[in-house]
Amino acid sequence: MIPAAAVATIAAALDDYRLTTPEHQQTPRGAAETAAAYLATSGWALTPAAHPVRAGLAHKEQQPMPDAVDVAPHADTAATLPVYPWRQAPPGLATRRQLRDMGLRPGGHDPVAVIECRRGLRRAWLYRLDLAAPKLPMTLAKEASLDAAMSARQTCPECRRRYHHCLPLRTLGTCLECHDGTPADPSSYVPPTARLTAA
Ligand SMILES: [Zn+2]
Repeated sequence: MIPAAAVATIAAALDDYRLTTPEHQQTPRGAAETAAAYLATSGWALTPAAHPVRAGLAHKEQQPMPDAVDVAPHADTAATLPVYPWRQAPPGLATRRQLRDMGLRPGGHDPVAVIECRRGLRRAWLYRLDLAAPKLPMTLAKEASLDAAMSARQTCPECRRRYHHCLPLRTLGTCLECHDGTPADPSSYVPPTARLTAA
């Protein structure tokens, strides 16, 4: 939650900006800068990742954070990015999953911050809402190429079963059953013949 006093400061800043800046010179960035300046002079600490937010997106900031987040397991490379504790990220940022739920995608821009959840055990990238692009529709061709990619990771080259999970092909090269005889649960794969009749 954003403290009510901070919201009031931002509201006052935006009001002043609207009144003191000619309408044709008003920009989202100018409004955001005014709000940031008002916050700073009122004693609110601004972190480097407090990016200007497009005014039109402001209403989305009130959404509660969903429990599930997409996790960046190698977020250590983000050592230079600001890290926020869970639920304390500044407004205007969203995880990839939150973007997807809004029908958006990062659109090529890099994450600008990291959010920590489960007491820092897991981290997720944060992207700027104002740089996000609309999500691309899933086309049949994209689906087919995705399926081909998954098939390569799920199909045992030895027995040609396609499993419902990815196989340790890089280390073992086959499914567990082909590797050391550990019987595979018949419900965990599609036998090669069934795939032919299904196709
Ligand atoms: Zn196998």
